[in-house]
Amino acid sequence: MKIVYSPDHAKHHPKTYIKAGSFHEPQEVPGRAEALSKGLNEAGHEFIDAKDYGPAPRAAIHTPGYLHFLETIADRWRAAGMDNEEVLPNIHPGRHMPSYPTGIIGEVGYYTTDLSAPIGPETWEGAVASSNVALTATDIVLDDMSDNAVAYGLCRPPGHHAYQDQAGGFCFLNNIAIAAQHALSKVKRVAILDVDVHHGNGTQGIFYNRKDVFTVSLHCDPIDYYPFFAGHAHERGEGDGDGFNLNVPIPPNTGDDVYLEYLETAKTALRAFAPDVLFVALGLDAFEGDPLDGLSITTEGFGRMAASISELNVPTVLIQEGGYNRDHLGANIVSFLKGFEG
Ligand code: ZN
Repeated sequence: MKIVYSPDHAKHHPKTYIKAGSFHEPQEVPGRAEALSKGLNEAGHEFIDAKDYGPAPRAAIHTPGYLHFLETIADRWRAAGMDNEEVLPNIHPGRHMPSYPTGIIGEVGYYTTDLSAPIGPETWEGAVASSNVALTATDIVLDDMSDNAVAYGLCRPPGHHAYQDQAGGFCFLNNIAIAAQHALSKVKRVAILDVDVHHGNGTQGIFYNRKDVFTVSLHCDPIDYYPFFAGHAHERGEGDGDGFNLNVPIPPNTGDDVYLEYLETAKTALRAFAPDVLFVALGLDAFEGDPLDGLSITTEGFGRMAASISELNVPTVLIQEGGYNRDHLGANIVSFLKGFEG
């Protein structure tokens, strides 16, 4: 399979991770992409460098204010004399707070959803590189468009928790949304199938009012799991997008066999929508040994999941999202791609 990669992912290297009130070792680190690329290299996959698409594709998804924030905040933060080199919020606008902030602390709270997307000196460059990986993989598929056209973008940092104007959940630019919008310059209908263990809340939010992008997410039930406030079955889209969002929450610790039954629900909906191109938000954190501890998919199970998705016979762009057990990421991505290629 064609693997699109950029070494610039390493420019984003978080030092801070706060979870449930205490400091933890950061999970979304350059070693993830190194583990994935090592496994793919050893399995003999073909590597392709990401191209630079310039600012237009990201401006088609994200707001001007948010893009300006992401690009400039690390320098402004340092210039303002903050002690920590990483930008982190200490307040978010609550449900009853109506005003746009004028100071830097307020701005950080306004453009982030949580504490898990620290912005370092070169986070912007890393995030831009990640979106270019997704775009390059998309063009490989658009240039082919046979039923078995496929490419894999080794995106890092991930993207599916980023909204049009908010970073969160390790995500800054929504790579798969940027790529899906790019595809719509050549095709009419695209679908996004998110199999990351976490609900793809940013992707859902971006396309919630649209019917040309069908968003489907299978994930650990958010009733007591990140992102908590989105990902429930009753969220089905709004306005023109009513009926074009499908959430399939899955009970914690579900294993391969039952997971594949839930996947059939998603596939039935995807067949009915009949996309020209399918995007898969490929998180590997549904793994039984993942530290984020949601579902219980085995290495073999990722191959079965991929084989099942490939039965849709649609040109497919695979976009890397989460996955945090670095000892198993290589084996899990190799299993998935092998299953997909049959
Ligand atoms: Zn995830």
